[in-house]
Amino acid sequence: MKKYVIALDEGTTSVRAGVYDTEKGAFVHRAQQEVGQSFPHSGWVEQDANEIYYKVMYVLNDCIQAVGAENVAGIGIANQRETVVFWNRETGEPVCPAIVWQCRRTGKYCASIGGEVKKQIKEKTGLLPDAYFSASKIKWNLENVPEARKLMDEGKLCAGTVDSFIIFRLTGKFLTDYTNASRTMLFDIRKMKWDEELCEFFGISLEILPIPVASDSVFGTTKFAGKEIPVAGVLGDQQAALFDQGCYREGDGKITYGTGLFMLFHTGEKCVFSDSGLLTTVGYTLGGKTAYALEGSAFNAGSTVQWLRDGLGVIKSSAESEEIARSVPDSGGVNFVPAFTGLGAPHWNSEARGLFSGISRGTTRAHIVRAVLESIAFGARDLADCMIRDSGICLREIRCDGGASANSFLMQFQADVLGIAVNRPQERESTLLGVALLSAVSLGLLSEDKLDGRRVSEKIFMPSPDRVKFDGLYKNYLMAVKRALLSE
Ligand code: ADP
Repeated sequence: MKKYVIALDEGTTSVRAGVYDTEKGAFVHRAQQEVGQSFPHSGWVEQDANEIYYKVMYVLNDCIQAVGAENVAGIGIANQRETVVFWNRETGEPVCPAIVWQCRRTGKYCASIGGEVKKQIKEKTGLLPDAYFSASKIKWNLENVPEARKLMDEGKLCAGTVDSFIIFRLTGKFLTDYTNASRTMLFDIRKMKWDEELCEFFGISLEILPIPVASDSVFGTTKFAGKEIPVAGVLGDQQAALFDQGCYREGDGKITYGTGLFMLFHTGEKCVFSDSGLLTTVGYTLGGKTAYALEGSAFNAGSTVQWLRDGLGVIKSSAESEEIARSVPDSGGVNFVPAFTGLGAPHWNSEARGLFSGISRGTTRAHIVRAVLESIAFGARDLADCMIRDSGICLREIRCDGGASANSFLMQFQADVLGIAVNRPQERESTLLGVALLSAVSLGLLSEDKLDGRRVSEKIFMPSPDRVKFDGLYKNYLMAVKRALLSE
């Protein structure tokens, strides 16, 4: 019996793959390759889709060789979301650079979308008009890349998110999964199909888009070492983390503490729409059922710790921030607002910039470091409050992952500030594991009812019962945010 599943995580800065042993319930081999980015103009971010593909093939080959192609049951794919690739349907060759999710080149255009279209975007796709999502990136390529237009006129153009490009190159099938489609601003998240009116608004013909299918589908087969291997199970990276974290019920939530902070909150089988500017998105589809999630993000989380290290030079490593923060009993009244690139939900202000407040003669490096770590937790409280208010659903517990979740001071402070337990798993490569699990279920190697008891906690951080104290600290943070908004 083939017991291995290869999980692929095509991220923004690296491509990772892991061999998941479905009997042991663990990864037995991993491979990783860095992927470059280019910044041809201010605010533009591009990648070479061929480089992505070659690095994907490299890590897949590495993993498949480690256990033998004959023992591999299938490949699951998780990927950076929203990024757009254009390629030639006949050759599979990319037509132009991939426009990465962070790219702001269509920012002005998206800001001009208002009225009825803005309303439709929210009602149908769960999103807000923003350059972050794929639609305006596709439109930009169609208007600015002559080769793309020519191929489109000849019926040979494929335009899609990174998952669809990898699936196409591996299997020859032109498909995307629902979670990735839900990040394009073109996809009706209740009807589970491209919305013709929105496609028309953005000038995008349906023929150039992949066919959306459920995340737990078998997408096709590919060949490695002469052996046919199915590609089964595809999810956007944040959704894969949600899946791994065992967030299978309404009220389950996870926070990924990476460069930025992503919070996803499972709202069951119903779409919840936010009044605070949070996004409604497809969590995953499994066995014909769709789980929806509310999503909120803070642009800067771990990046503030990087800034302490590389910008201010007050710590030597990200990990050192924990010990330094613990060396003082509190932040000494210092608050930090991490608005390096504006503030997201619920403040929504792209002009606001960072700010320290409450500095006195007694302020030390430790207070500054502590205030910076605390600001990450306060940013998550902003999002959690919106989610609870908008959904009316009670948040039971937060499951954490990502680089900065290694910081136990931060996780304890997070539990205290939220008043909710923070549960840290043993395996923190959540994206990779999430898609490994989905792939195993799709291939029939793991039954759905086994998913629940599988996640192993490493530590549960219980919240302090002193709500007055921590609500007070959060209020002080909100006062500092007010000042940051005033100073724009
Ligand atoms: P990404 O996938 O966004 O690149 P990762 O999940 O790899 O991010 O996390 C990296 C981020 O986590 C960096 O910004 C780093 O500063 C931060 N980080 C890593 N370890 C710690 C730590 N012990 N304490 C605080 N921040 C940390």
